[in-house]
Amino acid sequence: MAGTPERNRPNAMGSHEVVDAVDAGIEDARRSLEALVRIQSISADEDHTADVQRSADETATYLQGCGLEQVRQAVADDSPPAVIAEWMHAHDAPTILLYAHHDVQPPGFVERWHSDPFEPVERDGRLYGRGTADDKAGAVAHGAMVKAWLDTAGALPCNVKVLIEGEEEIGSPRLAAFLAEFGDDLRADVLLLADAGNWSVGTPGLTYSLRGLVSGDVTVAVMDAPVHSGMAGGPVADPVLALAEMLSSLVDEHGDVAIDGFWDDVRELTQYERDQLAALPDNSDGLRRAWGVLPGVELAGDPSRSIYERLWFRPAIAVIGFDSHPIEGSSNQIVARATARISIRVAPGQDPHRLTEVLRAHLRACVPFGLEFSFEPYEAVPAWTCEPTGWAFDAAARALRTGFGRDPVLMGVGGTIPFVGPFAEAFGGIPALLLGPADPGSDIHGEDESLHLGDWRNLIASEALLLEELATASRRARQCGSVRKRADNLRTDREGSP
Ligand SMILES: [Zn+2]
Repeated sequence: MAGTPERNRPNAMGSHEVVDAVDAGIEDARRSLEALVRIQSISADEDHTADVQRSADETATYLQGCGLEQVRQAVADDSPPAVIAEWMHAHDAPTILLYAHHDVQPPGFVERWHSDPFEPVERDGRLYGRGTADDKAGAVAHGAMVKAWLDTAGALPCNVKVLIEGEEEIGSPRLAAFLAEFGDDLRADVLLLADAGNWSVGTPGLTYSLRGLVSGDVTVAVMDAPVHSGMAGGPVADPVLALAEMLSSLVDEHGDVAIDGFWDDVRELTQYERDQLAALPDNSDGLRRAWGVLPGVELAGDPSRSIYERLWFRPAIAVIGFDSHPIEGSSNQIVARATARISIRVAPGQDPHRLTEVLRAHLRACVPFGLEFSFEPYEAVPAWTCEPTGWAFDAAARALRTGFGRDPVLMGVGGTIPFVGPFAEAFGGIPALLLGPADPGSDIHGEDESLHLGDWRNLIASEALLLEELATASRRARQCGSVRKRADNLRTDREGSP
């Protein structure tokens, strides 16, 4: 990635007091972020339950220190603790729900990291460590922005509620229970998430679509225990080969999903989406570089679709884990069973529960030799899309333009944030503004996850400006509304008069 240091770039609103306060507080914010990154809050690993709790405790202490009120932990159905807070003293102003999450992915292959995943280190303007970009930087950004306002104006331009979730990285399985229990406490007019990302270093993104997620484990078994391959090989089938054959039937020659009925509910692009995609440059080479795809390796997916359509609006399937026997310590035995963890990114329009069932049916139908078959589903989260127009999106575009000194790119994301759809819907279809600290070089979920520190500062500044933009825009929208209502009343009066 081109890495011009963005932090020192003069800012159009550099004199703006709140932006100055963001800059004055940025080193403190960074220290708070580093302290959070040192906590191994891995929600997918039961051995780290205490760490997730400690991470919630630290997050709560941090938010309290930023001046947020009613800071408390929220647990639904034994979920890992979320942290919620608020500041509700802006009369006649909208309420913004600030979302991020404090849990993280497991570190993956620790030996492939260039530094300890849980000891943050800066290299070339980037802070490396698990959770730096996804999403502890988002959680700290919300607090730092609130603190900048309270330090300068002594108040916020909008009311805010804060939700820092603790189980996002396992697909928010208790989201419905959480919404039922805490939905009223978190009711808002606009959602503001800091869990998405930027178009590239220095160029902000405003995200309007997310893919969903379906995952599950498929297991085939031949025996209860392995047998000597010399004594049994031939008559006894190999479950690893059997499973490999089943898995290879999941895709066509392009790598696209080839399951019967799978594409039935993929919806066509809207005209708006088509126009947005057409306006984007073909950045295949940049993406290849960001992903680290080796030279000579072709990209997969229907080649007649643009790379962004493939990434944001079409489904994708991958095997994200495989268990049989490790090569180390292997001997001439036929293993008893093999398991694969399958993960599907769900396209807009698709019903994730239906996809779980067509996946199960497909796998069951192609089990060779009558092997014992089981399928255990994990997650089923739908995609989310919106048309990013209206007062809140306009306010976000203005704030990002000022905070980064560059126009935002309207973009989709191939990943999943389960929180967005259900909360936006529960609060009456309110606008959801998805910003975030990551960029294509952040390797979130991968080894060497990192945060671009200059863009993080720009994000915090943009969020601070956005609160003011939202307050102004909502006031204007209300005035227009009441002017229109008065005009309507006048017209009705006139029409009604003889
Ligand atoms: Zn995240």
